[in-house]
Amino acid sequence: MTANTTAEPTARLIEVFSAIQGEGLNVGTRQIFIRFAFCDLRCHFCDSVHTWNAPANCRIERSPGFRDFETHSNPVPLPILLAWIERQNLPSLHDSISLTGGEPLLHAGFLKEFLPQLRSLTGLPIYLETGGHRPEQLPMILPYLDSVGMDLKLPSVSGESYWQEHMKFLQICYPHLETFIKIIVSQHTDVAELEQAALLVADVSPDIPVFLQPVTPLAESEQLTKTPILAPTPEQVLTWQALMRRVLKHVRVVPQTHKMLNQL
Ligand code: SF4
Repeated sequence: MTANTTAEPTARLIEVFSAIQGEGLNVGTRQIFIRFAFCDLRCHFCDSVHTWNAPANCRIERSPGFRDFETHSNPVPLPILLAWIERQNLPSLHDSISLTGGEPLLHAGFLKEFLPQLRSLTGLPIYLETGGHRPEQLPMILPYLDSVGMDLKLPSVSGESYWQEHMKFLQICYPHLETFIKIIVSQHTDVAELEQAALLVADVSPDIPVFLQPVTPLAESEQLTKTPILAPTPEQVLTWQALMRRVLKHVRVVPQTHKMLNQL
């Protein structure tokens, strides 16, 4: 959360680093990742459980891509974060900046101050990665965003249900921002929920790209949630893609490629 009791905005962070994006529409591009602390969801498949609460310290990469992390205490003042980003932003290295978490929109007050300065400092496009369940906070930072990747939560897979919030969120994003949807699918995905998701997106626009992302089984998440996490079979994803393409123009099946590269 941000602490705005003083004149200087601050944020609680997990980490800042440079890496190749492994998910969604920006897959394969080089980004500066700013990972914010706190998440108000508890998805069964979560691969970022370390973000659910704020640590006393965050870790900050010194040289882009080298994983030579320094440790700094939380919360972080806005000018300090800007200086870290400037250090990462070597000429022509990055395609964009990723705001990720946790849930970055829990920091909307901080982002409203931070993003205009970030944009003028770097000139890089700004991409928001979000659970898409906080449409009330999105307008606060909408003018400073270029693209949004919204996780659409299927109750059968994530244990979370936000149909109405997702619809409102998408209606705010599209067509003002480059927008895509990510849906995590597992062997337990309920086909009726996938159909409902496809219709929800198509209602806003059949042009919005949807990425079906087979869940990456993680022992850490399974231990926390006591829920077995199994990747879908090839037959399942073929069937689901065909089903969703009846109402949507762009449905792609892409696993997390950064895990294949052994990246963070
Ligand atoms: S929204 Fe993201 S960080 Fe939060 S619980 Fe779900 S997967 Fe984890």
